[in-house]
Amino acid sequence: MVDIAKFFLEFTVDESCGKCTPCRLGNKRLLELLTKVTEGTATMEDLDTMEKLCYYIKENSLCGLGQTAPNPVLSTLRYFREEYEAHVKDKVCPAHVCKKLVRFEIDKDKCIGCGICARQCPASAIERTDYVAAGHKLASMAINQEKCVKCGACVGACKFHAIDKA
Ligand code: SF4
Ligand code: SF4
Ligand code: SF4
Repeated sequence: MVDIAKFFLEFTVDESCGKCTPCRLGNKRLLELLTKVTEGTATMEDLDTMEKLCYYIKENSLCGLGQTAPNPVLSTLRYFREEYEAHVKDKVCPAHVCKKLVRFEIDKDKCIGCGICARQCPASAIERTDYVAAGHKLASMAINQEKCVKCGACVGACKFHAIDKA
């Protein structure tokens, strides 16, 4: 829902003719705050600011575009607030949509260490790791989260369904 609100707001920011300030600048500021939510950098105060800004834009814009532009944000904040709060408090996107909050992980119990995923990774983020289980030295792969660009190519490459998106 957070992503859907962002989609509609991006559209109205593009469509704003710029004649009045509440719509021209208000919606841009609102989009900046919403982007912070999707990147896990927003605070609970930002959510309150977004709500106030929505009402300000609605009440002070000259035409229907500005007067309705904040509606997707307002209605999702009202009915899906827990999704916003998950992004802000837990730094988690429950729908696994917001790229900056998604993590790809390899389940070492399923991974056979074939290395196919590593060859598909455009960021060279998948590295071999050895571990010991029941006295045997085993090979697995692990994702370096610092290097991962969250493209998801590795998920499709693994025939053993060993890579999960969390
Ligand atoms: S509310 Fe209407 S007039 Fe004002 S900037 Fe937006 S599109 Fe233009
Ligand atoms: S493709 Fe799958 S099984 Fe092969 S190394 Fe990667 S995660 Fe492991
Ligand atoms: S999501 Fe993309 S960048 Fe990240 S490990 Fe998988 S293939 Fe590499």
